[in-house]
Amino acid sequence: MNIPYQPSTSLSAKISRKMLPLLARRNIHFTLDKPIVSFTFDDFPRSAITNGSDILEREGWRATFYVAAGLTGENNHHGKHFVSEDIPGLANRGHEIAGHTYTHVDCDRLGYAETLAEIKRNKEALAQMGYKGKIEHFAYPFGAANAKLKNGLQNKFRTLRGVTPGVHIGKADLNALKSTPLYSGSMVDNAMQTIKGLSNRPGWLILFAHDIRQTPSQWGCTPEEFSSAIKAVKQSGAQVLTVGAALDQLEAQHG
Ligand SMILES: [Zn+2]
Repeated sequence: MNIPYQPSTSLSAKISRKMLPLLARRNIHFTLDKPIVSFTFDDFPRSAITNGSDILEREGWRATFYVAAGLTGENNHHGKHFVSEDIPGLANRGHEIAGHTYTHVDCDRLGYAETLAEIKRNKEALAQMGYKGKIEHFAYPFGAANAKLKNGLQNKFRTLRGVTPGVHIGKADLNALKSTPLYSGSMVDNAMQTIKGLSNRPGWLILFAHDIRQTPSQWGCTPEEFSSAIKAVKQSGAQVLTVGAALDQLEAQHG
């Protein structure tokens, strides 16, 4: 099995990541009486369906799947990935299909024109799998972005999502939405604290997960951890909406 790719940890890369939230923003402002939570799955391994969205459906909830179509049928550090039929299946059950490049590539290193080609290829592959809807939302693989990508892709998607944790309170940058990981252990504990804080300070919280299984990767969590997150979300009184449905609601505030 290949060693999973990780973005640069150099000092300059870290500084760029720190600065990026300040650049090429597309703010939406809103006030919420009641928190909103969006469950999202990246890449994605099949366990995100069997131990993830299938469980959400029992609550009447739906999720957003950021799909890299090149991972179809793959077996990697996240376990076995989705198969073609899963895509129309999820869409038919009301889940949202979103983009994540075709080959799951670091777009910051790839460059803008090549990223557009990746996005196009992904869209075409999803259509071939029988997905008939639009791809209105995108997550940067590895959260890797830059100002040029933020500026360029804002015309192609309603939202762009990163991997910086946090809750959107009062405003959100639609070119780099924050997203809180459900990674096993202390990261899930942090996410639980964030969820519990929602009832006092209502905001929009996006959660993201990969594999959900008994022995998860370092970017995954166990079914028990996922269930405890569901329970906490229920207790918070949040509405659970896909990213698109959440944005519809926030935009409606502006008439
Ligand atoms: Zn990913």
